[in-house]
Amino acid sequence: MQLAPPDPSILARRDRIIADLQRLLPGAIVHEPAGLATYDSDALSAYRQRPLACALPANKDEVSTLLAYAAEQNLPVVPRGAGTSLSGGALPRPDGIVIGLARMNRILEIDLENRCAVVEPGVTNLAVTRAVEGDGFYYAPDPSSQVACTIGGNVAENSGGLHCLKYGITTNNLLGVELALPGGERVRLGGKALALGGLDLLGIVTGSEGLLGIAVEATLRLRPRPPVTRTLLVAFDTVAAAGRCVADIIGAGIIPAAMEFMDRRAADAVESYCAPGYPQHAEAILIIELDGVEGEVRDGVARVEHIAGTCGASLVRLAANEAERARIWAGRKAAFAATGKIAPDMLCMDGTIPRRALSDMLAAIAAMSARYGLAFCNVFHAGDGNLHPLILFDAMREGELARAEAFGAEILTLCVKMGGVLSGEHGIGVEKRDLMGAMFDEEDLAQQQRLKCAIDPKRLLNPDKVFPTLSACVEQGHMHVSGGRLPFANLPRF
Ligand SMILES: Cc1cc2nc3c(=O)[nH]c(=O)nc-3n(C[C@H](O)[C@H](O)[C@H](O)COP(=O)(O)OP(=O)(O)OC[C@H]3O[C@@H](n4cnc5c(N)ncnc54)[C@H](O)[C@@H]3O)c2cc1C
Repeated sequence: MQLAPPDPSILARRDRIIADLQRLLPGAIVHEPAGLATYDSDALSAYRQRPLACALPANKDEVSTLLAYAAEQNLPVVPRGAGTSLSGGALPRPDGIVIGLARMNRILEIDLENRCAVVEPGVTNLAVTRAVEGDGFYYAPDPSSQVACTIGGNVAENSGGLHCLKYGITTNNLLGVELALPGGERVRLGGKALALGGLDLLGIVTGSEGLLGIAVEATLRLRPRPPVTRTLLVAFDTVAAAGRCVADIIGAGIIPAAMEFMDRRAADAVESYCAPGYPQHAEAILIIELDGVEGEVRDGVARVEHIAGTCGASLVRLAANEAERARIWAGRKAAFAATGKIAPDMLCMDGTIPRRALSDMLAAIAAMSARYGLAFCNVFHAGDGNLHPLILFDAMREGELARAEAFGAEILTLCVKMGGVLSGEHGIGVEKRDLMGAMFDEEDLAQQQRLKCAIDPKRLLNPDKVFPTLSACVEQGHMHVSGGRLPFANLPRF
């Protein structure tokens, strides 16, 4: 993966830029090497670059001030929440600034009548649920990183999580966003009231990976906590049987709140990491959760137990109480971290496939593993076909990182060939940028780039991410569409 070289004219102005930023946001600029080290990379730590400076605004006006300055100086800008992106979305540029949103972490309003919360972008995902659970509500998308990752990052990545099979991902739970555009102007997209008609601009911005603007406020849908939740742990002697069980449950019309898969290597690593009580010696386990009212859940559990039996499950265990249920989920949420027990380094893939292709895909990954000489384990959101093969390697060994990346690229390319896509929830970032050609032809990519360039004609926001190049915008004269204001021209401004 090659990133554009830094602009020497910006590097030459470094001291002046830092002085300007300190004047604009006194006490909120990080520029010393020790402080900047924190911002060198995100959770895709194989890629690192030190930014020119990092600005930590405390409110939306300060975000606008920074964006106006960046536009005036032609400075690249990388928005950053908690830096948990697994696709390198928050990787900085040496000739650009990072705008870190973590200080903007206030919950501005909880409106239970309208079942929504209005929050700043630096609020963590889990903090939203914590703030409303006493009233019987919660925020549904729950990435495993929810204790750290921010709502701004969730919006930018259109993040999913463990319980998205039934309740949807971020886009299904986001009612509105206030967006600071390149140049600093702010627009509101959506909000508490039902807004139909016109282009779905909120849909375009959700998952746009910080390329179109900075989310400075978000209005989130709150859901009432279902009265009953039951969790089953189901073990199988073969991965194929577990795959068949997933397909049969969905095929029977049952929509569990969550249905998660772990293969033996992953389950063993988790067991030795935090001992959640997973069955030993199973080749695959499923965690299946059903929620709703008592009768509905009781009926669902009985049907799932029956289907698991017909698929040859070696164990079906219903969590006896809330403590056991919490333990089962704590294990699943720790799965990525637990790989540290079995390998020094790990690359987490994030492709999707149609559910019926699951068994074929798992067999193909095993064959690739033998060919690349690298071990892997599988943890994924089985219900919606979102795979997270974890490739295990040692970056200190010559050539292993390159081999791991090639292995990952082959998995993702196969996902696309099987009818899936490159990313289910982690975004494209820099990680999958150069694979976009496997999913989109040149004209598709050019159309997407035209949208980017219409809103950000100077291409200052999160450059290097998502698109292999932005050549279509330059070659076809789309760099100057309406001064970058066309798509948002009629929206309220601040
Ligand atoms: C252990 C672990 C488990 C994970 N599990 C899941 C999971 O289950 N599901 C899932 O979907 N993801 C998961 N992730 C990935 C990651 O947590 C999500 O992508 C998350 O949404 C990133 O949030 P963040 O605040 O850390 O954003 P960052 O990493 O800081 O940034 C991510 C992207 O968002 C942009 N961005 C950040 N804030 C803003 C903003 N306010 N406005 C515009 N752009 C912005 C950045 O430029 C970057 O492109 C996991 C990561 C880890 C490390």
